[in-house]
Amino acid sequence: MLEPSPIHSAIIELKNVKRYFTSGKETVRAIDNVDFTVNCGEFITVTGPSGSGKSTLLNLIGLLDSPTGGEIRIQGDDIQKLTQREKSAIRMREIGFIFQFFNLQKNLTALENVMIPFWFNEHTRKESEERASELLQKVGLQHRVDHLPSELSGGQQQRVAIARALVNSPSVILADEPTGNLDSQTTKEIITLFEDLNRSGETIILVTHEKNLTECAGRSIELVDGRIVSDQRRE
Ligand code: ADP
Ligand code: MG
Repeated sequence: MLEPSPIHSAIIELKNVKRYFTSGKETVRAIDNVDFTVNCGEFITVTGPSGSGKSTLLNLIGLLDSPTGGEIRIQGDDIQKLTQREKSAIRMREIGFIFQFFNLQKNLTALENVMIPFWFNEHTRKESEERASELLQKVGLQHRVDHLPSELSGGQQQRVAIARALVNSPSVILADEPTGNLDSQTTKEIITLFEDLNRSGETIILVTHEKNLTECAGRSIELVDGRIVSDQRRE
């Protein structure tokens, strides 16, 4: 009989991770010797000044980029040992991305935008539609399913992007300045949505340069010059 695989409460582990960019004689140490473990169910904010490596860190965790040194494990798998194809499969299955500018398809409705990740797996159109409507309901947009992005407010567009990120039930949601383009009231609403998702079990890493947003999270890390200078948990 097969041994049951050990329960891995650490979803993501970074050991001594470096991401250096070199052009000519100059080397930028965007991420410099970072050790960082993300546990299942955590809500983590990442803050730091512009250029401190926040997006680089998120891109490494989300397998959009590869480290120049160190080790990254996702659900225990050593990422360096995988082929591009295997990495894409893990990215698709484990990671939900949310960006500052929503990245929605302009010519598709809210429902169709949420259905995009289904193009890459074996669901029927009916199943995809049902799941996409469910997710739009979850983010409070059940009354806007047939609207195009241009017919939605910024906050509503970000809700569509959040629903889309949830399609494959990822292990972790990565959000890079998701409220950077929203007013303060809408920012509050989106943060409340992230809090609700975290309460229902989602693991979330939220990059922001707005320090006041760190209060929503159980853990906050701060980057300066590619290094973690503080890592704090609160009750
Ligand atoms: P943040 O998101 O905190 O503003 P970034 O992660 O975007 O910071 O960038 C960190 C540093 O790495 C910056 O100095 C930036 O110029 C540099 N950097 C990021 N991406 C690249 C790249 N593709 N090529 C060269 N330098 C880069
Ligand atoms: Mg950035």
